[in-house]
Amino acid sequence: MALVLYDTLRREKAAFEPREEGKASIYVCGPTVQADAHVGHGRAAVVFDVLRRYLAWSGLEVTFVQNVTDVDDKIILRARRERTSPSIIATRYTRAWNRTMDALGVSPPDVQPLATGHLLQMQELIQTLIDQDKAYERGGNVLFRVRTFQEYGKLSRRQIDDMQQGDDIVDADVKDDPLDFAMWKAAKQGEPAWPSPWGPGRPGWHIECSAMATTHLGAEFDIHGGGLDLVFPHHENEIAQHEAAHGTTFARTWVHNGMVQMGDDKMSKSIGNVVSLEEAVNEWGQGPLRLWYLSAHHRSPLIFESDRLRDATIVHRRFVTFLRSARRAAGDMGADPEAAAPHLDAFRSAMDDDVNAPQALAALHELVTDGNERLSKAEAGHDDARAAVAGLADALVEIGDRVLGLALTAALEDAATREQQIAPLVAQLLEQRAAARRDKDFATADAIRDQLSSAGIVVEDRPGGARWHVEET
Ligand SMILES: [Zn+2]
Repeated sequence: MALVLYDTLRREKAAFEPREEGKASIYVCGPTVQADAHVGHGRAAVVFDVLRRYLAWSGLEVTFVQNVTDVDDKIILRARRERTSPSIIATRYTRAWNRTMDALGVSPPDVQPLATGHLLQMQELIQTLIDQDKAYERGGNVLFRVRTFQEYGKLSRRQIDDMQQGDDIVDADVKDDPLDFAMWKAAKQGEPAWPSPWGPGRPGWHIECSAMATTHLGAEFDIHGGGLDLVFPHHENEIAQHEAAHGTTFARTWVHNGMVQMGDDKMSKSIGNVVSLEEAVNEWGQGPLRLWYLSAHHRSPLIFESDRLRDATIVHRRFVTFLRSARRAAGDMGADPEAAAPHLDAFRSAMDDDVNAPQALAALHELVTDGNERLSKAEAGHDDARAAVAGLADALVEIGDRVLGLALTAALEDAATREQQIAPLVAQLLEQRAAARRDKDFATADAIRDQLSSAGIVVEDRPGGARWHVEET
């Protein structure tokens, strides 16, 4: 395939060449299950879901791994506040995460490893580093000796003396160097702990991903993904641990998504400006929400504003409306795939260029514009036009639903179900309206139309009589 991806490590676009021909292996950092997902999490989920779907659609066999961090300071803190156990908190929010991902149309990962299920693999990796004197134990903590890894900082391109390890809980005075970070943390009173060669404790966050990625994808894999806020220290440390231990490349390409902004701020739990992802899906629907996520390039920031979501809703309606009209006009006419070919080419070249989703959406708009221009001929019964709109409708479903997950067919089916339920009632009202018009009682006729419209029913007067449908979303 001709896909080119921007690699954060190289700071440039490079041809995507899978390690194994015909296959693609992807690891994306998953949630720390301490609270409900917010709209910022949804962006990373959709960005990597679309990349994964596109690779699969292009014929690759994709293995997609996304972990769950089910042991963490924040989980322990929350459990303490709620007077329950960390595993109850972790289980509750893992379920909630999966439910919300499903509502957002994100395909479940092929493997969803839990950190607490991979302690032996983490301990093995830590031991390998200790054996090479690249890590050391202090009072039951094990720390990575950062200055032994010459290439430290290569992902974030920071100078080694300007770095701080952030949320590391191990006291600075047990470290040989403040830059060193914890891979294993000694048990503290009242916290969950597991046995280890260095005494009871729990893993640090970075070691989880290093160990889980290679457990499920092998020592070297194709793509490592995550939010831009994870580049340092998390991903820098993942690379250091793996490459220092094994001397081999970890991920071949690093893909990072930009943040969701609320005004000038990043949407984040620590700032407290978060919008629940579940509420956003309920309010806007899967298709419009994903259209909004895809309206900016994945490396750019994206602003959360209801005006932009309303725009996305209008775009979604435009696509579904075309789909409905095209299906109606085409009837049982076989599709002409030639009609869609140039639009599929435009879509592919946009996606191949570092998954340029806004450009890909522009290709969908072009397809729909082209289709709309052919509709009146198709509706008048011209076979060529009917075959063309059938082909365009098929292509729209193919790329809109299968690759981008826009739930266009689902919206159409939803509307059809509602239409079936209310059809007898609407038919009766339309008959009354027709009778009123025959009697030149236009006030009554208009009142009936307004009533239907306020119930979300769109009436179109056509030469053969009135036609109607339920407005989507
Ligand atoms: Zn990670």
